[in-house]
Amino acid sequence: MAGYNTTIREKAEDYFDYMVQTRRYLHKNPEVSFKEYDTTEYIIHELKKLNIDVEQPLETGCIGIIEGKPSDKVIALRADIDALAMDEEGDAKKEFFSERPGAAHCCGHDAHMANLLGVARILTDMQQEIEGKVLLIFQPGEEKLPGGGRLLTESGFLQKQGVKEIYGLHMSPAIEPGKIAVKSGSFMARPDEFEIEIIGKGGHAASPHQTVDPVVLAAEAITKFQTIVSRSLDPTEPAVVTVGRVRAGSTYNVIPGSAELIGTVRTFSKDTADLIKQRMEQILKGIAEGAGAAYSFQFNEGYPAVVNDENCTDKLVAAAANVIGEANIIRMERPLMAGEDFAFYQQVFPGAFFFLGSGSDEADSKWSWHHPRYNIDEKAFLTGASIMAGLVLDR
Ligand SMILES: [Zn+2]
Ligand SMILES: [Zn+2]
Repeated sequence: MAGYNTTIREKAEDYFDYMVQTRRYLHKNPEVSFKEYDTTEYIIHELKKLNIDVEQPLETGCIGIIEGKPSDKVIALRADIDALAMDEEGDAKKEFFSERPGAAHCCGHDAHMANLLGVARILTDMQQEIEGKVLLIFQPGEEKLPGGGRLLTESGFLQKQGVKEIYGLHMSPAIEPGKIAVKSGSFMARPDEFEIEIIGKGGHAASPHQTVDPVVLAAEAITKFQTIVSRSLDPTEPAVVTVGRVRAGSTYNVIPGSAELIGTVRTFSKDTADLIKQRMEQILKGIAEGAGAAYSFQFNEGYPAVVNDENCTDKLVAAAANVIGEANIIRMERPLMAGEDFAFYQQVFPGAFFFLGSGSDEADSKWSWHHPRYNIDEKAFLTGASIMAGLVLDR
C-alpha cells in the first residue's frame, strides 16, 4: 500500500501542470447548466486520448469507464461540469477570464473536471492495479433543477453498470490547500424553494380602511415564518426559513393589490421539510382569512440532503490519511446548510462527499462560492487527484 501511495503522489505531481492548464482552458470556456456541449466534447477528447471508453447517457456530460482486473467492484468518481450564469471579476484569474459573457466558473466546477481528468491519467497509468471497474462521471447541470445528478440516477445507467460506491468532492474556499473536511452522516442540507402571493385589495394610501393591505400581511407572514424553526421544530433539528425577496407596490401613496415573497427552506430530512411547508401554509391561511385576503403558495422540492455513508466515509478518511496525514483531515462537527445534487446518487448508492481545501491569500481564493471573484488555489489538485486515485487503488 505504501508503495502505491508514493506512486500516486508522484503521478499527481507529474500531472499537476496538465490539471492547471486544463482547468484554465475550461475556465475560459464556461457553459451554463445543461448547455455544456463544448465542455463535453473537450472532456470526451481528453478521455479518448487515454483510450478510455466513453458513454453519454444524457444530452450533455459523459462517463468514462476504466476496466481493471476482473472483479465485481465498481466505484464511481463524480465531477460536475456546469458554470453559473454570471460575469466574473478579480485580478488573480485575469489571464484566464471567461471568454463567454454571461457565463463563469464561479463554483469551481472547472477545477472538479480538471481534477478528475488528472485522476483519469493516474488511473490509466496504473490500470493493471485496479480491481474491477471505475466510472468517471462528468455530470451536467448541478446548479439547476432538476439537477444532472437526478437525471443520471433516473436514467438507470449507473445501476446497469453495477456501481457499488460513489465519491465526490467540492473545492472549499474556507479550507487551505493540503487539507480536506469530511463528516459522516448529514453533510449538506436539503434546499427547497417557495413562492407566495398574497392577494389583497389595493387603493389610496390615505384610505387603508377601504383596502386589504397585502404589504402589512406580507410583513406579518415574514415575521411569523421565523417562529416555525424556533417554536414548531425540535430544538436540536437544524433548519432555516429565509425569505429572500419581497416585492409589492410601486410608489409612496398607493396600497398595492398584491405582495410576493420568495425564499428558501433548508433542512436535513423530508419530514422536517414537510412540517415546515405545512406550518407555512397554516400561517398564510390564518393571516389571509383573518384579513379577508387570498393567497397562493407554491413549495418546490429541491435536492435531497447530502448524507455520507459511514463505511464510505471511513474509506475516504483512510485514503486521505495516506496522502495528507490524519492531522490535515478536518472532522466537521456540523453540516453545511448549502445544498448539492450529489445527494441524488446517495439515494441509490452508498457514497461520501468531501470538501477539498482550495482557499489561500496567495491565490486570492477565499471568496465564497458564487462570488464574482471566486477562485481556487490550484495546489488543491495535488491533494484532490491523489485522494481520488487512492480511493480506487487503496483496497
Ligand atoms: Zn454552485
Ligand atoms: Zn458547486
